[in-house]
Amino acid sequence: MVEGLTDYLKPRKCQSCYGAGYTPCPTCHGRGRLGGVFRGQQAQPCETCGSRGRVRCQPCQHTGLANYWLWQPSENGGWGARGQ
Ligand SMILES: [Zn+2]
Ligand SMILES: [Zn+2]
Repeated sequence: MVEGLTDYLKPRKCQSCYGAGYTPCPTCHGRGRLGGVFRGQQAQPCETCGSRGRVRCQPCQHTGLANYWLWQPSENGGWGARGQ
């Protein structure tokens, strides 16, 4: 009866990052740096991801949830059970 609605309201994993909230950096492909592949070539820190090798997932706004708008992060950082 309301089964569909209940499912709809459940937190759903983001299909882009599989719930991680991050996706591998498209510029450095998760390496965190650029170049350095050839001998004598200096590796440069990737500016896109700040050499972290990953970037915030855009579709889920970094929450890892496809329906993040139902599960807003709380104002004080840390969200979900850790909130308050
Ligand atoms: Zn995502
Ligand atoms: Zn990068």
